[in-house]
Amino acid sequence: MDFSLTDEQKMIQQTVRRFVDRELMPLENEVMQAEGKYPTGIEPGLYHDLQMKAKDLGFWGINTPEEYGGANLGAVMSALIAIEMGRTLVPFTFGGNADNILYHGNEQQKAEYLVPTIEGKRRSCFALTEPGAGSDPSGIRTTAVKDGGDWVINGQKVFITGGNEADFAMVFAVTDRDKPPQNGGVTCFLVDRSMGWTSRPVPTMGGWSPAELFFDNVRVPEDHVLGEVGRGFMLGMQWIGQGRWLIASRCVGTAERLLQMAVDYSKQRVTFGKPIADRQAIQWMLADSAVEIQAIHGGMGYTREMPIERWYRDLRVTRIYEGTDEIQHFIIARALLKGYVKIGAWE
Ligand SMILES: Cc1cc2nc3c(=O)[nH]c(=O)nc-3n(C[C@H](O)[C@H](O)[C@H](O)COP(=O)(O)OP(=O)(O)OC[C@H]3O[C@@H](n4cnc5c(N)ncnc54)[C@H](O)[C@@H]3O)c2cc1C
Repeated sequence: MDFSLTDEQKMIQQTVRRFVDRELMPLENEVMQAEGKYPTGIEPGLYHDLQMKAKDLGFWGINTPEEYGGANLGAVMSALIAIEMGRTLVPFTFGGNADNILYHGNEQQKAEYLVPTIEGKRRSCFALTEPGAGSDPSGIRTTAVKDGGDWVINGQKVFITGGNEADFAMVFAVTDRDKPPQNGGVTCFLVDRSMGWTSRPVPTMGGWSPAELFFDNVRVPEDHVLGEVGRGFMLGMQWIGQGRWLIASRCVGTAERLLQMAVDYSKQRVTFGKPIADRQAIQWMLADSAVEIQAIHGGMGYTREMPIERWYRDLRVTRIYEGTDEIQHFIIARALLKGYVKIGAWE
């Protein structure tokens, strides 16, 4: 099987790499200094200008269909781009994208939510996790009860990325207790903040804060059901599925950058008359860098002079959201044991 990249893939990869090197990496110091100051990590005007610059290079709507003005580059290209973007800690993404499940909306919902999100005029958040239900979202307790032409939502969500800034949420709620959540019991709603939900930041060790969301008798008109009543669980899984491989791809880029930094530092840092790279102990650490990367830089890696400690904190969450490491292992093991995948014939 030939895994080599096509000329077009290499060309796009190189263009993203240049953009990261020239436009984003020079901002790293500023981003570290401004930790906690801006919800997006970068001053909003600058963020917008960068997105426009990237748009001129063709990076707009990486996963968005052409009919919505996107580039629709597909899964492999998106992963390659995510790897390149992972090489910087500047929390930047190209514009022109929207949550994949918003494409399940009807024409009115697409006009009201999907298109403005693609255009950057509206901000969404995905509200599934609750204090009592994370890895096992079938345990959600938030309810939506029909009352005339409205659904009335009550409950609480937690750890919602972008929940402090979003002007609408995709909210998952139990609509039929007698049916399994996976099949008929859960519905997804498009809920504007103006309908009455509130949010509060959850401070974390990372450079940004997700939110707690509170729903206290929030009335939602029935035409705000996304997809069909009772089919929400499937939408939730579809949203999470996309994040899983993009998060992993971004981590690959970060690991590569950190390893390169470690190699450079080890050649330049001299102790007892020799660069530390000459010491076999350090060479072993470099070889084991995938797990040891944060130790290599010694004291400098621990300071806020370098982006390493910030990365160390920010990266931890990639082993939690869109499915923890343990849950990913569980899914792989289940696929093997139940014969869903054939060993040696990966697709
Ligand atoms: C910064 C951040 C942003 C997030 N953004 C969002 C968001 O935008 N929207 C959203 O809905 N959610 C979001 N989440 C929630 C995230 O998806 C959950 O935290 C995650 O699914 C884990 O759920 P939990 O924290 O409740 O842990 P739990 O499910 O309580 O798990 C606790 C521990 O037990 C382990 N565990 C659980 N079940 C098993 C098992 N069967 N076998 C082995 N080990 C197991 C887990 O791996 C974990 O280590 C975010 C979380 C964080 C931290």
